[in-house]
Amino acid sequence: MNLSHILFELGEDRENYKNAVSPPVFQSSNFCFNSVEEMRSKLAEEMDYPFYTRGHNPTVAILRKKLAALEGTEDALVFGSGSAAVAAAVLSQVKSGDHIVSVKNPYSWTNKLFNRYLKRFGVETTFVDGTDAENYRKAIRPETKILYLESPNSFSFELQDIEAVVKIAQTHNCVTILDNSYSTPLHQNASDMGVDIIVHSATKYLNGHSDVVAGLLCCNRKIAEHIFETEYMNTGGILSPHDAWLMIRGLRTLPLRLKQSTASTHWLLEQLEKHPKVERIHYPLHPSHPQFKLAQKQMTGAGGLFSLTLKVHTPEEIDKFCNALQHFLIACSWGGHESLVFPVAGLCDSANYSTSPHPWNMVRFYIGLEEKEYLLHDIEQALTQLK
Ligand SMILES: *Cc1c(COP(=O)(O)O)cnc(C)c1O
Repeated sequence: MNLSHILFELGEDRENYKNAVSPPVFQSSNFCFNSVEEMRSKLAEEMDYPFYTRGHNPTVAILRKKLAALEGTEDALVFGSGSAAVAAAVLSQVKSGDHIVSVKNPYSWTNKLFNRYLKRFGVETTFVDGTDAENYRKAIRPETKILYLESPNSFSFELQDIEAVVKIAQTHNCVTILDNSYSTPLHQNASDMGVDIIVHSATKYLNGHSDVVAGLLCCNRKIAEHIFETEYMNTGGILSPHDAWLMIRGLRTLPLRLKQSTASTHWLLEQLEKHPKVERIHYPLHPSHPQFKLAQKQMTGAGGLFSLTLKVHTPEEIDKFCNALQHFLIACSWGGHESLVFPVAGLCDSANYSTSPHPWNMVRFYIGLEEKEYLLHDIEQALTQLK
């Protein structure tokens, strides 16, 4: 489907709302009917018609159509956060006694879902080094139901060979779930590679303005109906109509934002790669990335999120560098208008810098929409603070 059609027309039914160019926010919890017969027929199709907003809301429905089309899947369900979408996708595929194989060190709350939450219900997870797809095959047991991927992850950017893992899943009757937040549907099309359920934190690039927390999952109609009937309606972690409206607005500029953020990042990395204080660049589409070829094969871009390991001797120097930045904000998240830094040291207990899976001298950068020279100047002046 044409990208402009998806972003500017699909799902929008302007004649039905007085030809308003921007769709209305249907800020209504319930919808009424002319007769009991009509009520009965609409209840039978609660996933597709307005009955009660926990199930279907017209503003949210516009967003669902656009997101499914972007990922190239039959349907999409949106949630009040990326973590709600991840949990719904995973919970929908397991029961007590089942087993999951996951890439090691997925997003922190995904990790806790597997490690802590699901254990209470007798679901076990084996974590594997996903840089070799064969590790997934080796960990599969008769009771394995899900192969979970996050390619690349959003801190150190290791990849999984998505097509290879999908093939393994298909021969063992497992469902594949991929967290595609880093790439967005524009930089990595996971449905083309055969992934069954694609999950996103829409808080990041998809909304893009650091003002909404949202998530989604994309899949075929059969899986979507199953999730709608179970996790979606039961745990009820929906996105509000107003937040859906903000997301529709944010989506309109997704290609422009991604393009600017990506171009600035490539330029900045070229300026920084020879800097004496930069030990290593971690970015999927940088030639120094150990899986550069695989990244080129399955991704068409890598956006504005990367990490640097810095040549410093003490954790205090990392604090000093980050504190010296004038325009990068010290914060988590990414994908908005504003540039950010997130040092691994900020995650660690100050008495023990080995509590993170990542090296303490690693700093994650997100390059937002500011002018690239403005950002380079800021990084360079902060690096000069280091001896
Ligand atoms: C932020 C993030 C999540 C969680 O999404 P929320 O919207 O914060 O709940 C999941 N996966 C990845 C890769 C993320 O970056």
